[in-house]
Amino acid sequence: CGIVGYVGAQQAAPLLLEGLSRLEHRGYDSAGVALLGGTGLKVAKQAGRVRDLADSLPKRFGGKTGIGHTRWATHGPANDVNAHPHTDAKGLVAVVHNGIIDNAAALRQRLSDEGVDLVSDTDTEVVAHLVARSEAGTLEGKVVDALAAIEGTYGLAVLHVDFPDRMVVARNGSPLLIGVGEKEMWVASDLAAVVRHTTTVAHLDDGEIATVTAGGFTTYGGDLRPVTRSAVTVDVDP
Ligand code: GLU
Repeated sequence: CGIVGYVGAQQAAPLLLEGLSRLEHRGYDSAGVALLGGTGLKVAKQAGRVRDLADSLPKRFGGKTGIGHTRWATHGPANDVNAHPHTDAKGLVAVVHNGIIDNAAALRQRLSDEGVDLVSDTDTEVVAHLVARSEAGTLEGKVVDALAAIEGTYGLAVLHVDFPDRMVVARNGSPLLIGVGEKEMWVASDLAAVVRHTTTVAHLDDGEIATVTAGGFTTYGGDLRPVTRSAVTVDVDP
């Protein structure tokens, strides 16, 4: 339902929570955040409001790269386990997703036949396992491998402990934008999530993916061939 991501020099958790609370008018049933910091990947998520998530976050929930999500359940009830972000079994990959993966049932079956333990009821969880199992040498390559297996609609943001300087995002039928800051960058499903911090944004088109680091962003087609997409400053009342 709602996605926000941050990479930069600030602590990400409060920024993500604030961004998520600005998406609250869209309606949701669960909320969560994942951070990459010195101690690897940390995830906090639960059914309920962003406020409740904020109240129950561990005190030291540090990390300067992070993604957050508000969920509107389509696959599986609104509960803590089904809340996003979703991770692989080793906790290397975290994924937030808006949309519906149409072939999730077949992918769940295939992964489970291969010995993967699926812990949630969601369509989204397969993406985390697919990214983790890809043998591509880059996070972009791993995401492309995962996307090749899935059918459906998505706005996605992905973190991986082996690539702590970046988020990789992808879009197909679900809005996703990149917000440009001063030595910090944002991603969001809706401008409202980041408008307090930046109004300079680039919108992804369907079928595109992007790498977002503190220093900037690169957009690609689904084949990882770079496509130029420049950020424009939009005129809005913050
Ligand atoms: N289909 C996913 C789920 O049920 C994502 C729903 C959403 O867009 O929030 O978890």
